[in-house]
Amino acid sequence: MTSTPTTPPRPFDVTTVFPQLAPLARTATRLHPRPGLPSPQDSSIGGPLLWPAGEQWPHCDGPHVVDGMNLALSPADVRLKRRIRAASRGRALTPQERKTLERIHPPREYPHKLAVAPYEGSVAMLPVAQLYARDVPDLQTPEGTDLLQVLWCPFDHPIMPKTALFWRAAATVADILATPPEPPAMQFDDYLPEPCLLNPEQVTEYPDHLELSKELQEQLGNWSLWQVADTGVDNAYASYPQEFYDSELAGAPGWKVGGWPRWGATDPTPRICPTCNSDMDALLTIATFEGDDSSWLPHEEPADEPPTGFDQFDPRQPTAVQIGSGYDQQLYVCPTAPEHPHAELMH
Ligand SMILES: [Zn+2]
Ligand SMILES: [Zn+2]
Repeated sequence: MTSTPTTPPRPFDVTTVFPQLAPLARTATRLHPRPGLPSPQDSSIGGPLLWPAGEQWPHCDGPHVVDGMNLALSPADVRLKRRIRAASRGRALTPQERKTLERIHPPREYPHKLAVAPYEGSVAMLPVAQLYARDVPDLQTPEGTDLLQVLWCPFDHPIMPKTALFWRAAATVADILATPPEPPAMQFDDYLPEPCLLNPEQVTEYPDHLELSKELQEQLGNWSLWQVADTGVDNAYASYPQEFYDSELAGAPGWKVGGWPRWGATDPTPRICPTCNSDMDALLTIATFEGDDSSWLPHEEPADEPPTGFDQFDPRQPTAVQIGSGYDQQLYVCPTAPEHPHAELMH
């Protein structure tokens, strides 16, 4: 068994050096997904949902267009491919495995046809996350609900999958839909989350330096303040200590609920509810990577053996999800009215 992933303490308490940050502190719940066998009663990524048998499964009407260079596979084929890859690690493929992979990825003729294949009709959405309020302290559930279900259409709309949110009271679900429909194809294999159990952990976060007041930005950029406080931060950061602040002290990387967004792909943009002009709250970060070499990488005892049938998961990418070329998809909700449409940003 693995031990619970635990975020190491921050290198130092940033509010002792920059006290004006203190009122901006927010908690976030890091989800620390790890491959497993979630049930509908578990909080999970890519796991089965507690979905009422009598309720229509969500579908997306498109448009769905696939570039002919991409082979849009079904979820079943992507699972098969991943299982073969895991089982054959360290040995040659068996003839049967090779045959299966050739069926999934037939040899292509050259030159490739650059056909564009549209998928007509509506496409069943895929489970992305199921979060019970009891497991996730930073999940703010609308009154009368204690469960959030996030699904997505595994096609780009136009640059990432389109998400749908469902809030429920878990106790009201009697009969669970046993075999939900699946999409016939997905734009990319990376849009099929590997089933993961969660190890929620609450951490404290601060805004990206670009979201701070001019005065605070100047303080953070003043290397002598860091030195006077004896923070021990490497001299390599002397000309731009904000970089250390953003990567090690501000927002945690990886899948999380609440907290402050990490920006990288784009500069921070305002998150305003288009319906009522309220400042929207960060709900869920769907991350490509759980972390890099930063101090946010959790401590955990590695398993001696991966669970049977599972790939030896890449600790940086346990869910196998990739957004863009390695970014995050962040979902925002309106704090005043949960029925106002949510927003999605890639960063
Ligand atoms: Zn769609
Ligand atoms: Zn609103």
